Amino acid sequence: MHPWIADRTTTFDASGIRKVFDLAAKLKDPINLSIGQPDFDVPESIQDAAVDAIRSGKNAYSPTQGIAPLRQALKTEIDQRYGHADRDVFVSSGTSGGLMLSMMSMVNPGDEVIYLDPFFVMYPALLKMSGGVPVPINSYPDFALDPDKIAAAITSKTKMILLNSPANPTGVTATREQLEAVARLAADKNIALVSDEIYSRFHYDGDFVSPAEFNPDTIVIDGFSKSHAMTGWRVGFVHGPQEVIATMLKIQQYSFVCSPQPAQWGALRAMEVSLDGHIADYRRKRDLICDGLSERFEFTRPGGAFYLFPKAPGSAGGEAFVHKAIERGLLIIPGKIFSQHDTHFRISFAATDQTLHAGVALLNELADEVS
Ligand code: PMP
Repeated sequence: MHPWIADRTTTFDASGIRKVFDLAAKLKDPINLSIGQPDFDVPESIQDAAVDAIRSGKNAYSPTQGIAPLRQALKTEIDQRYGHADRDVFVSSGTSGGLMLSMMSMVNPGDEVIYLDPFFVMYPALLKMSGGVPVPINSYPDFALDPDKIAAAITSKTKMILLNSPANPTGVTATREQLEAVARLAADKNIALVSDEIYSRFHYDGDFVSPAEFNPDTIVIDGFSKSHAMTGWRVGFVHGPQEVIATMLKIQQYSFVCSPQPAQWGALRAMEVSLDGHIADYRRKRDLICDGLSERFEFTRPGGAFYLFPKAPGSAGGEAFVHKAIERGLLIIPGKIFSQHDTHFRISFAATDQTLHAGVALLNELADEVS
């Protein structure tokens, strides 16, 4: 290792997902079911708002906490929904920025952080960077949020529970009862509850539920990346107890500084854009892929996001199956990138129907070959 590299960077690596992307780069015209962002473009009115902002000179730093109208619009919506006296909000540099600031603000070296396995790839990396100790809870085979398992994992060192519903990579949504039980548990034990709600709009069966409904100290992280296909614009937001938010802002001021100002004007417009058409379309795509794979694959039907996390057929494991798929021109992601187990793989159904049909056909063909 190069002598300049800091110790904190050595506890995690990026090689897993990089390997897949290296393989992908060699494919000419892949059937791509690996993408973690919507297949529609940023709605035009949002593009116009960002372009107008650039052309009218809104190109400087914004206040660290975000432009006033966006922050106010978010605050109004959040207050109407929760009515918590001590809830403040700021605009972050994407949900990722919010996640990083959460860890930096609350996790001391040696603090334990509980989250479900499979997990979003950033969670263990970010919390290790802050000196935290990952406590992944095995949620196989149905990926349900089991409050008893969370309770059993709590020790005197537990500082944070990190929830993600709808989840990446499984698409599984927690029930109201599960979320309420975990929210109350966190409150009883005085543990920080962080809820990553980036997929909240992609919720297909019933209304989205946040643990913040049951625990007024919940820190909620959300953003516009997925909902409005603005992944490259870097606009997220975080709301929670005033003192926690103020601490995150202190760190944002000395790191990200602010979310890009023109993108924030786009996000302000995004708050007026209806997503109903897109959500209905993604619900239909969810059904299409589930129906297409249900005979030959074992999986939990996703209630949200745009992912499916099937068990790899045959006995060779997730990575071996993914390599076979990639050799045949189908791009999917091995489950072990999101997990301590190499048994599953992730499909994204944020793709055209044509791509989905081609993917389903090839996956079924591969399943017949390996079983
Ligand atoms: N959380 C989860 C669960 C995600 O899947 C992603 C994006 N893949 C993020 C956070 C980060 O999103 P953003 O673009 O807002 O940083």
